[in-house]
Amino acid sequence: MSSGWFKRRFLSSGSAARRGKSAPQQQEGDEAGSPPPPSLLLYRRPRFLRGASPSEERQPGKRPVLCPSRDRPLQWHTGYAETINAEKSEFNEDQATCCQISIRKREYGKEEDQEWLILCTTEYLTGYYWALFDGHGGPEASVMAAKYLHYCIKQKLEDVVEGITGDRPPMHLNGQCVCQSDPRFVEEKQIRQEDVVIGALENAFQECDEVIGQEMEASNQSGGCTALAALYLQGKLYVANAGDSRALLVRKQSIVPLSTEFTPETERQRIQHLAFTYPKLLADEFTRFEFPRRLRGDDVGQKVLYRDFSMEGWGYKTVVKDDLKYPLIHGHGKQARLLGTLAVSRGLGDHQLKVIETDVEVKPFLSCIPKVEVLDFSAQNIKEDDILIMATDGLWDVLSNDDVAHIVRKFVQDNTSDPYRFTELAKCLVQKARGKKDGYYWTTDSNAPASYDDISVFAISLHNKDDS
Ligand code: MG
Repeated sequence: MSSGWFKRRFLSSGSAARRGKSAPQQQEGDEAGSPPPPSLLLYRRPRFLRGASPSEERQPGKRPVLCPSRDRPLQWHTGYAETINAEKSEFNEDQATCCQISIRKREYGKEEDQEWLILCTTEYLTGYYWALFDGHGGPEASVMAAKYLHYCIKQKLEDVVEGITGDRPPMHLNGQCVCQSDPRFVEEKQIRQEDVVIGALENAFQECDEVIGQEMEASNQSGGCTALAALYLQGKLYVANAGDSRALLVRKQSIVPLSTEFTPETERQRIQHLAFTYPKLLADEFTRFEFPRRLRGDDVGQKVLYRDFSMEGWGYKTVVKDDLKYPLIHGHGKQARLLGTLAVSRGLGDHQLKVIETDVEVKPFLSCIPKVEVLDFSAQNIKEDDILIMATDGLWDVLSNDDVAHIVRKFVQDNTSDPYRFTELAKCLVQKARGKKDGYYWTTDSNAPASYDDISVFAISLHNKDDS
């Protein structure tokens, strides 16, 4: 069953269009043409994997790798591969989307005091979109995000389409200058059209988060997901990240990180400051201070190392009884947890998540807003061997940026002609990280611990960009 809010939200845009002269038409291959009905909120693998079968014979102790069929190439000859976790859950909680986003220009008119909206059926701008979602607490949130985020992005870009064309965004959309100096004010603030695209992406993540929250509540489900989305639009690549997936541009001579990971450790100060401002969020169950280890009764009265929201460095404080509460952020590295519960500090969903056996809600500490990095193709000399790797943490837990760059460079050097080669590259990376079962453990070829997690990888040759 779906929420009434959902129906109003998504059906209303169609209704608005129908009030005008023409309604938007679904286009072949354009997943962002209109949202799927709520009945499609069911677990499935990415749409572009239809007809795919494991790319290798099933072998004992090896997890199968799924890739798109050779006869169904993705945009820009994008490569993709995925494998499920090592029996951690029944479903692969990672999801992926790869599609074009057709952005139409909106026009407004007036008729008998009633404003109506025309959505021009002709495409105005074409964007190219890739996204990875890493679910936790079940696959539902990542399934929903994979189906809706690009639709939200399309809507938000259509809302501001006049602001993302031309040299400078106008102060007013669909209106006259109120003040003659408006263009100067926009220039003084150095507001560029790419800032309006970034704003649209941020708003789209927020709207998608709201949709997921409403749907999860209505269907009595729970869970959340990270989101890493790349959008190529008007000669620029926008990479928006909320979570711990990673985008890395591998070039012949350099590595360019295009995302920042958001974990309880990387966002410690934001999270502690929130607890300082709204102490009731901790419900007397947690302390916002960070200590090198969990304190014990015999630490009371001692001076110990600590950090608060205002500190990059460490200080000493005299331990009081309240400091013995469970820390807001506890653990280190991959073991770091927000409220003892979550390993990420940004993402979509988790609206219903509470700390076990308490009334403490986790959602207020999570942010759904992505950090957006921009790669301007006109300022870069994009070469054939410039490959963007997007992957969930299952890959990065095992392979470093340098490991991935080494594999990518060697692969690109040895494979120059087959248009399917980028999927072979993605498969190669997944195989390196998944390892094989060796007794009880999963290990890589070099006997290091392999990833037990779901692993999903896009390999995108930026030189293959399609501006048509
Ligand atoms: Mg993961």
